[in-house]
Amino acid sequence: MSAATLNINLEAIAENWRALAKIAQVETAAVVKANAYGLDAGRVARHLAAAGARQFFVAVAEEGVALRRALGSGPAISVFSGHMAGDAEMIKGANLTPMINSVDQMLRHVEALPAHPFGLQLDTGMNRLGMEPAEWSALRDIALAQNPVLIMSHLACADTPDDPMNESQRAVFEDMTQGLDVPLSLAATGGILLGADYHYDMVRPGVGLYGGLPFEQALPVVTLDIPVVQIRTVATGEKVGYSNGWTAPNPSRIATVSAGYADGLIRAMGGKARMHANGVAVPVVGRVSMDLITVDVSELKGDPETLQLIGAHQSVDDVAAFAGTIGYEILTGLGARYHRVWSA
Ligand SMILES: *Cc1c(COP(=O)(O)O)cnc(C)c1O
Repeated sequence: MSAATLNINLEAIAENWRALAKIAQVETAAVVKANAYGLDAGRVARHLAAAGARQFFVAVAEEGVALRRALGSGPAISVFSGHMAGDAEMIKGANLTPMINSVDQMLRHVEALPAHPFGLQLDTGMNRLGMEPAEWSALRDIALAQNPVLIMSHLACADTPDDPMNESQRAVFEDMTQGLDVPLSLAATGGILLGADYHYDMVRPGVGLYGGLPFEQALPVVTLDIPVVQIRTVATGEKVGYSNGWTAPNPSRIATVSAGYADGLIRAMGGKARMHANGVAVPVVGRVSMDLITVDVSELKGDPETLQLIGAHQSVDDVAAFAGTIGYEILTGLGARYHRVWSA
């Protein structure tokens, strides 16, 4: 087999969920948008439901329909993008809870699906989704009369605890929800770690479940082992890869492994990335190509059958740093070609 193996540890995801729930001490949902950050929303959500999760969030209604099929009728599934034109049938059929983002969405919802449960999303300063304070003042009484099941907002800077934006958004959220008898939610993974003031009635972790920062205590969830297709010896001065990207400074052994940027291993990581063989780090050399990466394995004693990019020695966030991006992008970009193995 030459496809790389991506191992996804479902029980580690459940452990991370329990750990975040223990910190939050309130209802702990699970965000499984983007196919559970690339790890399979159906499998992840079923495992989390078995561990006790009762609330799931997706980005768009289509994801909610697929998730409902996987989960059955028990757990709540909420949709961040709210109620978009054409969504009514999906929202009704799959019993989804849209998080209403605007007056337009509110009207659309009550016209198409009167009495169907919904939540409200408020903009407390991120300027991405949700109603701004002025819009909310105008709609507030009408919306509250329809009995929303949740009022939520989202923090822009929660991965930076000292950023004054966190406290400022929390103050705006307090202001906009003062005196309401509706469950409230403000925190995703970063917000959970900011402390109890940010927890309210429900928290909505995503990346922390999947082993990513800012949840430093997270158990690692994925390992990625890439088969070595060939190993060759190159003499001093020989070149490796596209554009002669690397020149051997010494006689070297070069392993060619079977994954590349088509598998989400971002081309920009070439020149910085490392891989591991039984815990020994070896440098990626030359350009990352579509299906192949070249690695200088001169330091290794034998010939490895696989090299590991993500695992105990190197996290998703370490790999992200090589490419100048964040763990979220590496996870959600993990390619379709991997041989995926889910372990519980
Ligand atoms: C993606 C998202 C989350 C989860 O965020 P993480 O940083 O992955 O924990 C929570 N709430 C909203 C509105 C989101 O868009």
